Amino acid sequence: MRIVLVGPPGAGKGTQAAFLAKNLSIPHISTGDLFRANISQGTDLGKQAKAFMDAGDLVPDEITIGMAEDRLEQADAVEGFLLDGFPRNEFQARALDAYMAGHGIALDGVLDLEVPEDEVVKRIAGRRVCRNNSAHVFHVQYSKPATEGVCDVCGGELYQRSDDGEDKVRNRIEVYHRETEPIIDYYKQQDLVVTISALGPVAEVTQRAMDALRAGERR
Ligand code: AMP
Repeated sequence: MRIVLVGPPGAGKGTQAAFLAKNLSIPHISTGDLFRANISQGTDLGKQAKAFMDAGDLVPDEITIGMAEDRLEQADAVEGFLLDGFPRNEFQARALDAYMAGHGIALDGVLDLEVPEDEVVKRIAGRRVCRNNSAHVFHVQYSKPATEGVCDVCGGELYQRSDDGEDKVRNRIEVYHRETEPIIDYYKQQDLVVTISALGPVAEVTQRAMDALRAGERR
């Protein structure tokens, strides 16, 4: 399956993507994770992306699209993929369509995770992420680790992303509404969108997502 995941920051895209990718045996491709890996490795691409990410703005399309396409070229993505955080605007969506058309492939579905705005801010402001794996996500209030600052899953260090501070979050939400939300309509025109609520326990949301994707596939 070839799936795109959309939703505002804090909808739980990374967490859900990790479970869904495992269930569907496809790689989870997160452009945010790719940028963060480039930053921690000190690559030129990482240096170019950092200021945009720290401000909560989108990294320019020419950098992002090239990086995403390079990742899609890798062997594990040939049979399918779950894209998390890409595309993030209509230009990227069109570039992805052109890329896929050039490879004789197409998307099977676009999963839209819905979450109310006040919930988004609460979720992100308290979010702590594991340095080893961004799918290991905790919350200082709602999902505390057994030991403060330590990942329950792998013992890694938990940290607050530099773009998770409240002022940055507001900008990221604005960017989401302005740039990313329009791609939902773009994909609706291709009849690809399934929308689910991202509220509730993680496992329930995963089940909801699996059911919605299967129903979409039968359509
Ligand atoms: P995420 O981990 O998906 O929340 O992404 C973190 C940050 O990486 C975003 O706020 C952007 O600055 C940057 N980023 C990730 N994906 C994209 C994309 N498709 N286009 C532009 N910027 C992106």
